[in-house]
Amino acid sequence: MDEPDALRPAPIRVLPDTLVSQIAAGEVVERPASVVKELVENSLDAGARRIEVRLQGGGARRIVVSDDGCGIGAAELGLALQRHATSKIASLHDLETVSTLGFRGEALAAIASVAAVSLVSRTAGAEHAWRIDAGTGAIEPAAGGAGTRIEVCDLFYNTPARRKFLRTEATELGHCVTVLERVAAAHPGVGFCLWHDARCLIDALAATLQERTRALMPSGFAAAERSVSAQAPGIALEGWVGAPTAARARADAQYFYVNGRFVRDKVLSHALRAAYADVLHGAAQPMYCLFLRIDPAAVDVNVHPAKTEVRFREASAMHQFVRHAVERALALSAGEAPGGAAAPALAAGPAAANWGAWLATRQDGPRWHPQAAQAALAMSVQSADPLAGIRPAFSGADAAGLDASSAPLGFAIAQVAGVYVLARNAHGLVIVDMHAAHERIVYEGLKRAMGTGEWAQQQLLIPHVFGASALDVATAEEHAPTLLRLGLDLHPAGPQQLRLRALPQLLVHADAPALVRQVLSDLREYGADRVLLERRDELLAGMACHGAIRANRPLAIEEMNALLRQMEQTERADQCNHGRPTWVQLAVSDLDRLFLRGR
Ligand code: ADP
Ligand code: MG
Repeated sequence: MDEPDALRPAPIRVLPDTLVSQIAAGEVVERPASVVKELVENSLDAGARRIEVRLQGGGARRIVVSDDGCGIGAAELGLALQRHATSKIASLHDLETVSTLGFRGEALAAIASVAAVSLVSRTAGAEHAWRIDAGTGAIEPAAGGAGTRIEVCDLFYNTPARRKFLRTEATELGHCVTVLERVAAAHPGVGFCLWHDARCLIDALAATLQERTRALMPSGFAAAERSVSAQAPGIALEGWVGAPTAARARADAQYFYVNGRFVRDKVLSHALRAAYADVLHGAAQPMYCLFLRIDPAAVDVNVHPAKTEVRFREASAMHQFVRHAVERALALSAGEAPGGAAAPALAAGPAAANWGAWLATRQDGPRWHPQAAQAALAMSVQSADPLAGIRPAFSGADAAGLDASSAPLGFAIAQVAGVYVLARNAHGLVIVDMHAAHERIVYEGLKRAMGTGEWAQQQLLIPHVFGASALDVATAEEHAPTLLRLGLDLHPAGPQQLRLRALPQLLVHADAPALVRQVLSDLREYGADRVLLERRDELLAGMACHGAIRANRPLAIEEMNALLRQMEQTERADQCNHGRPTWVQLAVSDLDRLFLRGR
């Protein structure tokens, strides 16, 4: 009896070369912009100082990239178009320390398998250029200066199914422009231009990194940029981040480069999020453009065919380095911010709370003038409502009742600007950053609970059910025991829903979905073991940030006093989790100095 066809196995065969290249092209060549990216990267690897891109039909009809790089010798023109043929690496060691943008030797072959490609090239010493037709492999002498010119026509002409995925001419052109702008930012010494038909869309002469960055970023960036610069052996981070006040609704101005390559990397974007956690409202997206230079051996760039992902050998060290560098830039920059004489003092002040002593040492420093302080005060009083943002309080604690030993931080008198609690104590005035202080209290509490395994858990009367990505749901399912160890009773409630039944008492005020998302993404990124051991403090700090009272939440005087008492009982309460002071003391003598008393 004949078996039905469906059960008879198809014969196994080795695929023809062209088909293999077409399959590879599926990963490397998604649209005209991917061709532009690969060709321009080749030009940069060839040491070009000037690169010209000419497009027709959004790049789908024709892409021509010309450069003045080292060129390709006539004998190697055929090889350049072959799969797995490259001049950039020759051994595993080369691969592990690769510093060129390309190295897989597959871009030209992949492009040539889905488009009509020809290549004209001339090396410095050659008498003339040579041209190769990728379709026929024929080589002939040609006109042309030193460098390379590659022409790619009718993309996907032979793979109609893929051609259908192309969008309108304008959309494809937009992607090409984006790709070139992105590449140009990281290679300021190279001139780039891009033409569509007869229109010149980009004409960038060699420039500085900062000029290129500003060209890439949204128009408001220059006014809000804070420079980042950090070095350690084998690694350097350079670039600019936007002030928190200039954050955007969308994550459309976030660029991170690793050794000149634009990448999307979860470790890096998480580090950025962590650096801004304290100063940025939940959904707001910071702007940044950062360039990391690192020993190529410390990063694996061979993770993704389009090479937009990397893997760091020391991911958590990288995370810390980037996060601290950006935090430092943001903290310092507050000092440069105009409009408040007190800002420089606080931001550049000591980590410890002895602001008065520090102030004394800065008496004739250029940034601090009592007059400037007075002018700033006067300005704030002249604003429309002099009491705006200040909630006066008439607390029961009177001066006679102040007992330095039982309440060193004193008693609350007001909340200012949504985030500062003013208190008076035996020495004078205490100013508390309530979010930072509370964050430290929650953090220390979480650490203690983790250490003893005794969570004060809050069971939710009505479980919190919220939408989540399928990935988050899967992560929650996989890591339920770990989540429980973190005091979170979290389970899937549907394919895209999670149910939170209990959470640590300390976190009852947290935005639960945001908190859960962060914990899940940490678990995914680092795995349960690392999260609970080496990354435990980072994780708890992140949770604490979610759990801490937010700026602009009005506090009753009793709540403020409770905060002060908690601070007194908490270890290291004078520094927030980001190393900034959580409170400062202004002694009466400091106040006297502000008003030039006794001079
Ligand atoms: P890869 O860049 O990964 O080496 P490609 O397929 O993109 O692979 O290129 C194959 C080879 O062709 C390169 O290794 C390089 O030697 C040569 N090549 C490609 N483009 C250029 C160019 N614009 N100038 C000089 N050489 C080039
Ligand atoms: Mg290449």
